[in-house]
Amino acid sequence: MKKENDVKLERVYEKQITVFGKPLRVKRLILISLTGLLLGILGYMEIYAIAWLIVAIFFFCLAVFSLALYIKTILYFGEYCVEASPSGDIYVTKLFGQCTICLGELKIVKNKKGTFIQCQEDKSHIWDIHKKD
Ligand SMILES: [Zn+2]
Repeated sequence: MKKENDVKLERVYEKQITVFGKPLRVKRLILISLTGLLLGILGYMEIYAIAWLIVAIFFFCLAVFSLALYIKTILYFGEYCVEASPSGDIYVTKLFGQCTICLGELKIVKNKKGTFIQCQEDKSHIWDIHKKD
């Protein structure tokens, strides 16, 4: 049950993630986290220090996060989101939108069929997304 795109999902907050003034890209983050993970594992095999294990676990979590972001392009953390733009730049955003049918909260949902705006109250309230980028 798809309708015309008469709903609005606004970015009420948007901040680009930069490292030393350079935009952080998803692929770079994956590379950094995998390198860090490898380093942590190698370090732990060299000397069985718990610090290396913590490093490995940290970068493992970072790898899982960056891979999920790469696949989904948007991840929700409570009311904030982490989004990856088509060019791979990473943003922390806050989206706000209300369902025009039941006034439920709207979220961006990505599946095999594409990216949609979906109502959180009633999952059958779905709209096509218009790419602004
Ligand atoms: Zn709704």
